[in-house]
Amino acid sequence: MNKAPLAQLSEVHSEPNGGQALYDFAARLYPICRSITGHGVRRSLALIREQIPLTIHDVPSGSAVYDWEVPLEWNIEDAAVVSSDGERVIDFQEHNLHVVGYSEPISTTVTLRELDERLHSLSDHPTWVPYRTSYYRRTWGFCLRQAKRDTLRSGKYKVEIRSSLAPGSLTYGELVVPGRKREEVLFFTHICHPSLANDNTAGMAVATALAKWIQSEPRRYTYRFVFAPGTIGSLCWLKQNERALARVRAGLVLGLLGDPAALTYKMSRDGHTQADAVAEYVVSHLDQASTVIPFSPYGYDERQLCSPGFNLPIGRLTRSVNGGYAEYHSSADDLTLIKAGRLAESLTACKLFVGVLEENQHFVNRLPKGEPRLGKRGLYGSIGGVSPGEGEQAMLWVLNQADGSKSLLDIARRSGLAFEIVRGAASALEKCGLLQAVDTPRDVYRRSTSVRKQSHGKREIGPKKGVHRSHRASGRRRRAQP
Ligand code: ZN
Repeated sequence: MNKAPLAQLSEVHSEPNGGQALYDFAARLYPICRSITGHGVRRSLALIREQIPLTIHDVPSGSAVYDWEVPLEWNIEDAAVVSSDGERVIDFQEHNLHVVGYSEPISTTVTLRELDERLHSLSDHPTWVPYRTSYYRRTWGFCLRQAKRDTLRSGKYKVEIRSSLAPGSLTYGELVVPGRKREEVLFFTHICHPSLANDNTAGMAVATALAKWIQSEPRRYTYRFVFAPGTIGSLCWLKQNERALARVRAGLVLGLLGDPAALTYKMSRDGHTQADAVAEYVVSHLDQASTVIPFSPYGYDERQLCSPGFNLPIGRLTRSVNGGYAEYHSSADDLTLIKAGRLAESLTACKLFVGVLEENQHFVNRLPKGEPRLGKRGLYGSIGGVSPGEGEQAMLWVLNQADGSKSLLDIARRSGLAFEIVRGAASALEKCGLLQAVDTPRDVYRRSTSVRKQSHGKREIGPKKGVHRSHRASGRRRRAQP
């Protein structure tokens, strides 16, 4: 396929200052102690709301959500383990990962042996603090560096966690940007991780900037952005929006968008949706090292959005996959792991995804019997900025394929011509009445498009085979919901 035109488009979309504004926003979000409920989520949404007009939704604790229930709201003020000589040997103020998320309040004194049962560390990475949560089983615990753990001497330790678990709500933010059509494109990102840079603040920063850009000019589709805690948050959103889901035509779950790895697109459950075709086209043109991986029921909110009862035509854009980099779910996923340039490229990929979707119309040829005479309509050489002959080839391809069932991207892929050239040809043909736009059948992609490029080199790491096991954390260990 011709790579140049999309490269030109990506230059148009490149971020000023190489993505520094994205990085700076991620850095503002980074210190906040988030969880699936509580003040940290609200503070994060408030920062995002400074940039885009989010609507904030609260779902009360105890609300039934399909097979789940919104838990009590968790908040934390302080926590520490203090040695007999007064040293805060584990200190929430030093890093919010030091406390197991959703730890219940406790104030007690324990022996080292008793304390040890509550500790989590990474023997493979002795200077990193692991990220652990216990949302649905009431407990308490601490996470610390293995190197620190090795220095703890036997004796008594005072343990205090000043947290609260009380009826409150789960909070998520939503922005709907109306377009000319009611059909929607959905972008979804999770907002529930505490101080982890790539696995959370990167996705939030890119989604916020994308929403801001979407608002900057009129669009064909309606765009909906959801910033919600993982799993229970996406389930709450689904429950409250079930009737609107039929309008979703494409979308992306966004996360892990700032690390040095190449772009990864994870396909939708069906694997043959418009989102799959467009995302594959965009990432493969933007980044030659990119990969497209098949759907799996492990990962982020695609687990819920692509569950069989919803089966939304949505894939996921990441760089590394969850569990696919050593620093995942540890304190080493900090602001040194994410790069301004990578955030900028991720945002560019999202903008190109939108750009192709917006233009990816279906047409019918109004003179399908034989080739129409292009010369008498002044169409030869009419498409500027294209190498000689390419514009004419594109017009012939469009006229031949425009039977209403194939999109312009389908025609670009079949012809080997760049999408922008095919789009330009269709535009010229439409202007002189040879083409007529038709509605996109909702499932046309499920019938007609096959996503061919699949890489199995970058496999998503599931709970049984992934880093959680290889970390070999000692002590009682719980896997965080991603
Ligand atoms: Zn995660």
